[in-house]
Amino acid sequence: MDTVYKDIDRRAHALLRRFFGYDSFRPGQLDIIRSIMSGRDTLALMPTGGGKSICYQIPAMLHEGCCIVVSPLISLMTDQVAGLNANGIPATAVNSGNAGNENRRALDEAVRGHMKLLYMSPERLLQEMERIDISRFVSLFAIDEAHCISQWGHDFRPEYSELNILKERFPDIPVIALTATADRITRDDIITQLKLKNPFIHIASFDRPNLSLKVLPNPGKSKRIGIISKLIDRYPDDSGIVYCLSRKGAESTNAELNLRGYRSIVYHAGLTPKKRDEAQRMFSDGDIQAVCATVAFGMGIDKSNIRWVVHNNMPRNMENYYQEIGRAGRDGMPSETVLFYSYADVATLQSFINESGQPVLNAEKLNRMKEYCESAVCRRRVLLSYFNETLDHDCGNCDVCLNPPERFDGTIITQMALSAVIRTGQQVGLTMLTDILRGSARAEIIERGYDRIKTYGVGRRLPFSEWNSYIGQMIQLGLLDMAYNDHNRLKVTPYGMSVLKGATTVMLSRYHPAKPAAKTSKKS
Ligand code: ADP
Ligand code: ZN
Repeated sequence: MDTVYKDIDRRAHALLRRFFGYDSFRPGQLDIIRSIMSGRDTLALMPTGGGKSICYQIPAMLHEGCCIVVSPLISLMTDQVAGLNANGIPATAVNSGNAGNENRRALDEAVRGHMKLLYMSPERLLQEMERIDISRFVSLFAIDEAHCISQWGHDFRPEYSELNILKERFPDIPVIALTATADRITRDDIITQLKLKNPFIHIASFDRPNLSLKVLPNPGKSKRIGIISKLIDRYPDDSGIVYCLSRKGAESTNAELNLRGYRSIVYHAGLTPKKRDEAQRMFSDGDIQAVCATVAFGMGIDKSNIRWVVHNNMPRNMENYYQEIGRAGRDGMPSETVLFYSYADVATLQSFINESGQPVLNAEKLNRMKEYCESAVCRRRVLLSYFNETLDHDCGNCDVCLNPPERFDGTIITQMALSAVIRTGQQVGLTMLTDILRGSARAEIIERGYDRIKTYGVGRRLPFSEWNSYIGQMIQLGLLDMAYNDHNRLKVTPYGMSVLKGATTVMLSRYHPAKPAAKTSKKS
């Protein structure tokens, strides 16, 4: 096996050094390159900044012909092409930002075999496919931001769905799909939608241990500004981002910071394109300390010394949250993230969801975000388990770890719950599971025969809300997986199985009845 790859490895390394100036591949990159070179479809999940581009750029150079890269944004294409050309690699983009004859020339160059990489939008690719015989010069399709193809993803783009014809029309041209955010369900969906054949899947760790995680419930307005000011003071020569839910929120936070003498700017989709470019440039090149922005800010930001990210409002889902905090600390140095959590935000986000195309899915995602904010277990474990990655120890770099609630050995409680899940054939959700454990005699339980399983009623002594908290923690720790594309049914994960078999113990946080639901508090 290894000898087969020897030649590819050698040539790939040579290209890496010569054209990109790096000495070694990062974990996973070479495996992906080998997979593509053996003609296999490939799915690569790597966090932003993980080094996805090289994974198809090097195969593009190793292959005869040209790699077509599908990308959703012109700005991403432009950056990539400029970078490649600067390194002496023939690459070009076809898009609506270019003049018609420019596009024709670019395509022509590619057809004649003078280009190694050709960037286009999905709709453009489909258009061109009708006009020219792609198979004559294309060696590889790279689908960037591949989660855009899935309705389960957070950035669904209908144009991407059309890409399902690539494998039908060109079964022999390998496809590599790349994304920085995809939970298991989205991941599976990408494979189905693109019709990838027995793909090689590489999942890089999504852990960013240099980012500290902190959630602050119900801070008042002055406390928020106070915390942001302290962050700026701590890193006066670096910069940070304050994410706000609304343009108005971004404007007013920015005004507050300016009043305090900080070099802060604002960024949202309400600005003219010119103003937006200007803001982005000032942030990237200037000595701006803070940008107060909506989610419109960030795509394509590649600034290494972002030392902190504050969420002035709760993000709408964990994918967005992960992306947004991930803009800090790209250089690997310690960086801080703080999320201000309030019930008012939950209500606002809920109202958006009711108007969104997919209210059930989005409500579920919002719920997971809310649970993260209310977590009694290590936040990094919650975050990673959301992306189906198991962290089997507390991180020591989140507010829960630094200020832990009372813990107890929850192994037996966990085994009770997981065993009940298994005995129902993994067909129940959270409420039903709790009812089974507590020996409820409601009709559905009797009808389905759940009163006859061995763990029925074993948890009678704990109240419903307490069980709910513990099962919630089991989900957050990644012992149970709650599948939102399967009616939120609970499944025991491999990590959960190891607890069930007695190979691993589990610490749970002692449940204390909820504090009364506070509105945004006025104090401090
Ligand atoms: P992604 O597309 O995953 O967000 P990029 O492909 O833009 O990430 O890569 C992020 C940065 O890491 C780039 O500056 C890239 O040049 C750099 N990089 C990629 N691979 C390597 C490597 N093997 N060694 C060092 N730096 C690398
Ligand atoms: Zn932690």
